[in-house]
Amino acid sequence: MVVHLGMTGGFRLEKTPHTRAEFLLEDGVLHFHDPRRFGRIWVVERGAYGEIPLLARLGPEPLSPEFRPEAFLLGLRRSRKPLKALLLDQTLAAGVGNIYADEALFRAGLSPFRLGREVSEEEALRLFQALREVLAEAVALGGSTLSDRTYQQPDGLPGGFQKRHAVYGRTGLPCPRCGAPIAKGVVAGRGTHYCPRCQR
Ligand SMILES: [Zn+2]
Repeated sequence: MVVHLGMTGGFRLEKTPHTRAEFLLEDGVLHFHDPRRFGRIWVVERGAYGEIPLLARLGPEPLSPEFRPEAFLLGLRRSRKPLKALLLDQTLAAGVGNIYADEALFRAGLSPFRLGREVSEEEALRLFQALREVLAEAVALGGSTLSDRTYQQPDGLPGGFQKRHAVYGRTGLPCPRCGAPIAKGVVAGRGTHYCPRCQR
């Protein structure tokens, strides 16, 4: 069985108003809780994960040695998509969601609206590095728990990376680097936070 938590999904020991599936175990019931219903559950033969279309097209895990700057750079600079859309697309790097795409672009000093084919080699490498740094720091701090508290650590405690967000969820607040107000736009249908002065 393969489960994709899909942004708001998670397992709970108690039934919730958003329980979408129940797993009867020897000593209790495990509830799949998923308010926004983006989660998915598949049952496949062990090891046959390539049969799952969503997994088959996933790019490398950004914190693994398989995430190579050469391939990232090539994929990025071949694309006509905006950088933010490319990061969310999952084919260049797996697992990057809205928060970490915004934070990585800020750290790299690149506008989310820039097209992949418009970035220089040096800029693409900056984004590669920023993505790895942001994700490593977020993992070390237990992830980002927003005010809706849908994401929690396995022990139920909130993560700590939300306190480090430079742009995500900070519309109108001062940029930590230059003080200009953080702006919010839309790329690929997703709310996108950025500093109009630092990100070019
Ligand atoms: Zn700034």
